[in-house]
Amino acid sequence: MKIGYLIDMDGVIYRENHLIQGAADFMQSLIATGTPFLFLTNNSAPTPEDLAVRLKHLGIQGLSARHFYTSAMNTVDFLSETDPNCTVFVIGEGGLLAALHERKIASDSIHPRYVVVGEGSTTMDRLTKAHECLEQGARLLATNPDNWCPVSANKTRPGAGATAAYLEASSGRRAYYLGKPNVYMFHRARRKLAEVTLGTPEEVVMIGDTMETDIRGAFEAGMQSYLVLSGSTKLEDVSDYVYQPTRILQSVADLTEEVRSGKPPELLGEILSANKGFRSSKGGLRHQTDIFALHKPRPRPAMTK
Ligand SMILES: [Mg+2]
Repeated sequence: MKIGYLIDMDGVIYRENHLIQGAADFMQSLIATGTPFLFLTNNSAPTPEDLAVRLKHLGIQGLSARHFYTSAMNTVDFLSETDPNCTVFVIGEGGLLAALHERKIASDSIHPRYVVVGEGSTTMDRLTKAHECLEQGARLLATNPDNWCPVSANKTRPGAGATAAYLEASSGRRAYYLGKPNVYMFHRARRKLAEVTLGTPEEVVMIGDTMETDIRGAFEAGMQSYLVLSGSTKLEDVSDYVYQPTRILQSVADLTEEVRSGKPPELLGEILSANKGFRSSKGGLRHQTDIFALHKPRPRPAMTK
């Protein structure tokens, strides 16, 4: 069976500025076997070219811009499809600006149809301008819903979701969030994967480290999902979620042999039963909405929805 992979980056391929052990071998196995893959990231600040260079410096060769699909590209796909002649006022960085420019979506600070919020720094002047545009009727779009993004093991920075939430509060308008876990991101990524590989893979699998974005979006889009424990999710927290990954792996290194040999993955039934151990061990402890669940710190949500 021809499997195509959608692969999250942070926590799956690298953490901070270090490759995750075995990730380079995994990527080489995909490239050597001609297995279709596409990196899927909610970071709308870099361009696909920037990301290819970043991974090259980390030690992964053979990648180009076509291997990446960012939430900025997803936002521009959305605008091109739903309102191709629109104008936008942008709060964001190079990846978003370049994607808009490529599709000839004009910038407009007088009377834009949309305020588009992406990752990156901004100023109070630009937030004030965006607020005025919203007051005059512009609609609010965000490239992704992440309220914060990891910088290092003990450090985060505010994400596009937080900036959009600021404008939601000031304007009273609700934002529409593209990027993971929005199913539109997954549908578009699947289409792009088919385009770049000249043929639709029989099965598309999302590999990610975050339950709220990677696993939830894949589940809602009807895809299989492999959770890796090399990033933000601990095994003991998986059963807190109502949606579950198809498989749980320590890291992408667990898949290298499978990709090389072309041996199909275990049957779904076997995988789920293999996961049963930790599920049943947490029976009755699904306290995600229970304010009295004080036995462990409440996880800080990455998103507003
Ligand atoms: Mg991640």
